[in-house]
Amino acid sequence: MNITDIREKSILISRYEDPVLPTGGLTTSLVAVTTDVVRNGKPVIGYGYSSVGRFAQGGLIRERFAARLLRAPKGSLADEEGTNLDPFLAWNTMMNGEKPGGHGERCVAVGTLDMAIWDAAAKIADLPLYDFLAQRLASAPQRRVRVYAGGGYRYPCNDLVRLSDELRRCVDLGFTHVKIKVGGAGLDVDCMRIEAAASRLSGTDCLAVDAMNLYDQNTALQAAAKLAPYKLWWFEDICDPLDFATHARVAKVYASSVAAGEALFSQAEARLLVQYGGLRSERDVLVFDPVHSYGVPGYLRILETMTANGWPRRAFWPHGGHLFALHLVAALDLGGAEISPFAFSPFRGLPNGSIIENGRLTVPQVAGIGFEIHAEAWDVFRRVFM
Ligand code: MG
Repeated sequence: MNITDIREKSILISRYEDPVLPTGGLTTSLVAVTTDVVRNGKPVIGYGYSSVGRFAQGGLIRERFAARLLRAPKGSLADEEGTNLDPFLAWNTMMNGEKPGGHGERCVAVGTLDMAIWDAAAKIADLPLYDFLAQRLASAPQRRVRVYAGGGYRYPCNDLVRLSDELRRCVDLGFTHVKIKVGGAGLDVDCMRIEAAASRLSGTDCLAVDAMNLYDQNTALQAAAKLAPYKLWWFEDICDPLDFATHARVAKVYASSVAAGEALFSQAEARLLVQYGGLRSERDVLVFDPVHSYGVPGYLRILETMTANGWPRRAFWPHGGHLFALHLVAALDLGGAEISPFAFSPFRGLPNGSIIENGRLTVPQVAGIGFEIHAEAWDVFRRVFM
């Protein structure tokens, strides 16, 4: 029961479906973690990637965290029965010698490998990841979970027409709730985008907006005042993720939900959000990304901190649009999961044959995360690693 090989490859990834539109050079790391467990004549391999939005982590993965896993003594990553990998032991091995603080990008590198290790362990157990997680965490899983469509990036031309078309296609796919981007082009443009998008939904309360951390304190308050009458589903990434004072000032005057946590990566930062962010546990939303926050062990610590401070699990809507988060939502009975129906190829959309009905989705029923039944993602993993 050992890891025998770990490979990493950086690929370009785009916020746009249209390959002509500029990508901004965004990348993500793909990883393949090979074990010495053989199924159907082949070694079990776990796959993962670095979610989206924070670039590839090749150096950290190859030189530091994968190297520690490969140097681990034989059998030291096995569970008590010696029949499977223990992802928590693997995580401890990766973090061996790391000091507190300085989360920077290492949290993404660790989370990427953690995704692949959980994929391998669930495959060895022959269970969908959410079932395997629920067994490990003694939780009651939900097979059917709420999902929403994340996207709505501003198009360089014909923005409103293209946005409206994107929303129509989201609704055609079965989504009831959608998140679009605002900020960067003026509040009047934001309002036009909100009205164009919401006209495709059953109301503005089905539409979330994401300002991608663009506002300072003054512009955040101006935006909150302008957005308040729409009574949006939520207002996300208002300002710099560590500007807790602005979060608190907005939460004081903005009656609808705000969302935060996408760019907070640790339990220590979650504690700061609780202490200084002024958020309201009965209505606000937490979008921590399990990959960007050190994988499952890190995400569980954040969950523990927030629930100990009165936050319900339904407040958690993890960022990233990845299948890993979908399994965590199902295993831990969280609020719901983001799906990227069109952006971030090859990880956009869902596994083959998945059907969203009335904003709900059944988690794929194959062993592991399910990349093998996601045609576009599997094609890339195969080309890169086989
Ligand atoms: Mg966001």
